Amino acid sequence: MVTCLFDMTNLRPYQAAQVSQTREAFKKHDGVFFQMHTGGGKTICFSNICKSARPPVWILVHREELLKSAYSSLKRAGLNPQVLHPKMKDFDPDADIVVAMVQTLRRREYDLSHVKLLIVDEAHLTDFDSQIPRFTNAKRIGFSATPKRKGKQLQLTEFYSYMTVGPSLKELIDMNFLVDCEIFTRSVIDLKKMKIKAGDYDPSAMFGEFDKNIVYSGIVSNWLRICPNIKTIVFCVNIEHAKKVTDQFNQQGVKAKYIVSTMDGDRNEILKEWRRGDFDVLVNASIFTTGFDEPSLKCVILARATTSENLYLQMIGRGSRTFTDKKSFHLLDFGENVDRHGTYSQERTYSLAHKYNPKTGAGIMKECPNCGAYIPGSCKKCDFCQFIYPKTREEIVEEQLKPFREGALSTIVDVTDIPKMELIRKARGYKMGWIFRQMIAKEPNKAKNLIIEYGNYKNYNSAWKHKTLQRLELIG
Ligand SMILES: [Zn+2]
Repeated sequence: MVTCLFDMTNLRPYQAAQVSQTREAFKKHDGVFFQMHTGGGKTICFSNICKSARPPVWILVHREELLKSAYSSLKRAGLNPQVLHPKMKDFDPDADIVVAMVQTLRRREYDLSHVKLLIVDEAHLTDFDSQIPRFTNAKRIGFSATPKRKGKQLQLTEFYSYMTVGPSLKELIDMNFLVDCEIFTRSVIDLKKMKIKAGDYDPSAMFGEFDKNIVYSGIVSNWLRICPNIKTIVFCVNIEHAKKVTDQFNQQGVKAKYIVSTMDGDRNEILKEWRRGDFDVLVNASIFTTGFDEPSLKCVILARATTSENLYLQMIGRGSRTFTDKKSFHLLDFGENVDRHGTYSQERTYSLAHKYNPKTGAGIMKECPNCGAYIPGSCKKCDFCQFIYPKTREEIVEEQLKPFREGALSTIVDVTDIPKMELIRKARGYKMGWIFRQMIAKEPNKAKNLIIEYGNYKNYNSAWKHKTLQRLELIG
């Protein structure tokens, strides 16, 4: 079924290679993640995949800009996608190829069991999690530049058990598909005060910090000093902030205009004027983070902070497209984003499994060192390639300790020095059991008291002490 899934024409060599890898991976995996940086040509890859896939194919997106961009890319590839969007009437859920807003799909009760291939754009986002299981018989490809989740979010391994990774930003720059950036940073706000809300800095708290005369004038004066009169985009905290930043540029004699989500009519007109160079500085809040391309753009100003590496790379990635004579672009960072997320072209590693909050009970996944598949952390053998895991350091330590139980252990550690034992345990990443075994092996007569002392040191209650001693068979 997968042999003729993809059409390799018109792809750059690295794109064709990654599409091939994805095809190979489908022999073993139902869900494959396709990591590719902004500017790497993600859309052409998935148009290509759609073109040769066995229908029906569905593409899920979460923003109108991405819906438009996917739709026009598929059209260019000679396909005729149906669009699922609240404004579209006469939608046919049995169409061969569908581009759908995930928000709309949530409200429609279609049977989706006939779909053969599901493509999710910006698949690192949780917006799609509730809808993916509805495609009961589809293979899945998740596209994203930054497969990274955190905290209580579902593991990406819930939907994808393998990942293909595209070239790094540095490699794309070295191949002349992107340009690098010159970074200018200045800390203008107190981030310590800022609360996190819905996974990022609380916009109203952030606005409070950025909405200061000195910050406004600093943005304009730095732009005038470092890179005046070049095509620039400014990312702001919110709509009000965007308006005020625009005013500041205009007051200082630099023609600037803003585009915000609440505007309808003249939005496209302003964009056209900016594209053709009628004015330099285009201000927005978060409209142009995705699905927007203006290669002649040479300066990105971050007049906001974000905890999201993805959003950070999306915003500055707008400046990295190649254009005649463009050797680099400028990044003016007023939100300590470079400190938080690193430079544009630094090496980054991604994983479908993230550290999680143990309270949620989500399972930890690990990557198979032999075939790259994601498998449950407790597995000793990979289901996909039968690789058998070597024993972990801790397991080896545990095994070797057993024969020494008689008290023959060397006296490297003084087991009565509880704070030091705890330090060693943490430094080596051992579990608590290591301390207890050491105590029992070296001070068999004092072990019971030492464990109680350890419990006191950790402020554990008497029930803990009782249970632990029972488990270690030190009391009946
Ligand atoms: Zn494996």
